[in-house]
Amino acid sequence: MLIFKKVDDLQAWLKAETRDKGKGGSEGRKIGFAPTMGALHEGHLELVRMAKRDGCLTVASIFVNPTQFNDPKDLEKYPRLPEKDTALLISADCDALFMPSVEEVYPPGIDLTIQLDFRQLEKVMEGVFRPGHFKGMATVVHRLIDIVKPQRLYMGQKDFQQLSIVRDMINQLHLPVELVMCPTVRESDGLAMSSRNLRLSTEMRSAAPVIHQTLQWAKLEFPSRPATEIQTEAMRRLQAAGLNPEYFDIVDGVTLLPVEHWNDSDFIVACTAAFAGEVRLIDNLVLKS
Ligand code: AMP
Repeated sequence: MLIFKKVDDLQAWLKAETRDKGKGGSEGRKIGFAPTMGALHEGHLELVRMAKRDGCLTVASIFVNPTQFNDPKDLEKYPRLPEKDTALLISADCDALFMPSVEEVYPPGIDLTIQLDFRQLEKVMEGVFRPGHFKGMATVVHRLIDIVKPQRLYMGQKDFQQLSIVRDMINQLHLPVELVMCPTVRESDGLAMSSRNLRLSTEMRSAAPVIHQTLQWAKLEFPSRPATEIQTEAMRRLQAAGLNPEYFDIVDGVTLLPVEHWNDSDFIVACTAAFAGEVRLIDNLVLKS
C-alpha cells in the first residue's frame, strides 16, 4: 500500500495507475474511495473490502476534519492511531492511503465551504444537536471527492443522516460518483463499531449495547404502535440503562421527516444518539424497507 500526504503526489499516482495501458495494469479500473477519520475498525475495513471486491483501485483517507466538530474537546480527544491504522489497511489490501495535513485539505486563503441547502435533511436529528456539523462534513467530503475523483464512494449506514446528505450533495451538484452504502458492522453484543467506543469506560461499554437492543425492540413494536409511544418508551429504556439519550426518532428513510404509523411510508428508519458517559454514540436500524 502506498501512503500519500500531498494532493499532487496522490493525483499523479492515480493518473498513472488509471491510464496504464498494455501493462496488465489498472486500465479502465474504477477508483473506489473510503473517507475516514482514522482509529480504524472492522466497519471501516469493510468499506475497503467492498471496494476491492468491486474491483476498484482502492483509496482510503484518514483526516480528522476540524470543521465538522462543533465541540473542540471532542476534536481534541478524537483517537489518532496512524501506525495501527496503516497496518489494518495493509491487511485489508487497500491500494493507497491518503493522510493529508489540514493545510493540504484547506489551502490557506481559499474558502472551500459548501454552500448548499440540505433543507430538512440537515435540520433534524443530528442537525438539532450538532449545529454546523453537516456543513463541515459535506465540505470535506466534497473536497476529498475533488482530490481523489473516485467513480465509487463507499460510506457506512451507521451514519445514516450523513449518507442522506452526501447523496443529496451528489445529486445537487451532479457529481460523477456512485455512492455505495455499507451495512453497519457491529460488535458481537450488537454495539455498532465506532472509533469513539475506544473512549468508553468499562461500565459504559457494558451499558452501550442497550442502544442496539432498543432499536431492535422498536422494530418489533412499531408495526402495532404509534411512533410517539415507541420514542417515549425507547428514551426511557436508554435512560434506565444509564445512558443519556438526545433523540430517538422514527423517520422516513428518504426525507428523514417523522413517520407516525407503519403504513405512512415504505422506507422507515429509527435513528438515535445517546451519551454513554462523555462519549456520544449514534446508531440506527431500518424498521421497514
Ligand atoms: P468515521 O471515521 O467515523 O468518519 O467513518 C468513516 C466511514 O466509515 C463513514 O462512511 C462511516 O459511516 C463508516 N463507518 C463507521 N463505523 C461503521 C460501522 N460500524 N459499520 C460500517 N461503516 C462504518
